[in-house]
Amino acid sequence: MYVILLGLPGAGKGTQAARLSAATALAHITTGELFRDNIREGTALGEKAKPFVEGGLLVPDEITIGMLLDRVKQPDASAGFMLDGFPRNLEQARALDEALSREGKQIDEALYIKVSTEELVRRLAGRWSCPQCGAVYHEQSRPPMKPGVCDNCGAALYQREDDRPEVVRTRLEVNQKNLQPLLDYYDGRGKLREVDGERDPETISKDLGRLIGIGC
Ligand code: AMP
Repeated sequence: MYVILLGLPGAGKGTQAARLSAATALAHITTGELFRDNIREGTALGEKAKPFVEGGLLVPDEITIGMLLDRVKQPDASAGFMLDGFPRNLEQARALDEALSREGKQIDEALYIKVSTEELVRRLAGRWSCPQCGAVYHEQSRPPMKPGVCDNCGAALYQREDDRPEVVRTRLEVNQKNLQPLLDYYDGRGKLREVDGERDPETISKDLGRLIGIGC
């Protein structure tokens, strides 16, 4: 099964993709994480992507599409994948469809997690992440047991460069502009399903699981 999770930054795509892929054999692939790994490791791709990622802008398609298409060819994605953070524009959606159709495959579902902009600003600006295990916390709604320390692995939490309040607005604007054409693209192909992302994560997982035919 080939599934896409759509939604603005902070909508909960990462949290939901992790839950759903744990309940299935689908590989969880997140382009934001691929970029952050490359930046941390100082690769050539990371060097190219860094100014865009840290400024809250989209990394150019010629870098992003190649990276994603290489990743989906890896063996762990052969039984299917769940994409989180890709596609972010129509060019990316078309490139993915073309690559899949060359192998006789297609996207089965595009799941849109809908959250209002005010709620997203609140979520992103208070978000702290674990550099080691990827756990995500929030100052008000999900604080770690010990301030600044990951509950799972004990690593020191950090605030992503692009979660700083001044960058959050740019990220939301850039992504908002591209979201509607993507929703229309998948809706026109009969693939789009929408869920209300302003409820508790368990309820959202159940809804999403139902839509793709699994129990969560
Ligand atoms: P995310 O963790 O999904 O919010 O992604 C973090 C950053 O990575 C984004 O603000 C972009 O700079 C970059 N990025 C992630 N996915 C894409 C994509 N599909 N196209 C272009 N840039 C991306």
